[in-house]
Amino acid sequence: MKHQAIREQLLETVVKANEVGLIRLSAGNISIRTGKHLAAITPSRIKYHQMKVEDISIVDLEGHLIDGLTPSSETPMHTAIYRNLPDVGAICHTHSSFAITFAMLGEEIPPANLELFACGAPIPVAPWACPGTPKGGEVTVEIFRSRPDLKVVLLEKHGLVAIGRKLTHAYEMALNAEVGLRTYHQALMVGKPQPLTDAQLEEIKAAYGE
Ligand SMILES: [Zn+2]
Repeated sequence: MKHQAIREQLLETVVKANEVGLIRLSAGNISIRTGKHLAAITPSRIKYHQMKVEDISIVDLEGHLIDGLTPSSETPMHTAIYRNLPDVGAICHTHSSFAITFAMLGEEIPPANLELFACGAPIPVAPWACPGTPKGGEVTVEIFRSRPDLKVVLLEKHGLVAIGRKLTHAYEMALNAEVGLRTYHQALMVGKPQPLTDAQLEEIKAAYGE
């Protein structure tokens, strides 16, 4: 099988993401850049718990299928990010519960806890783009370009996109975002969470060398 190692790596992360509820059924999609002009991406309409290594789609960065099953309908967003942001090596797009919750509200998420800070909070909400259309790529690329430290963007009424140099980074950012948003939601239910102060942010940056 061609591209076996990258497909196995992607499927391993799909299984993990499915287990922790970041993706479910066939909603959400994950990809890795491979070589100069290709990406491996989860296929369209295959349930994650039934996905096999050979099902993983290999596409070029224009979205044309090279090998495997028909790629995710949201491939245009992934390929637009790879074409425009050369440092991005992997993308994790989730329809996870708390990402959708805050994506519906449409308000920027402050750095209210360390998980959100790790994602590059404040986390903006990209304007509505119908899934599967090129607009999803345009709105996310524009935001990531203007915010080089940002790892996560919410997609209005849809979910989130997490990026990373490697697949582990993108996956961990999607998970950080979901935990950060869930706990932020819990705090909103019982009180008024305060964002990390500028002094606290400086302390964290000094401690972690950022
Ligand atoms: Zn989606």
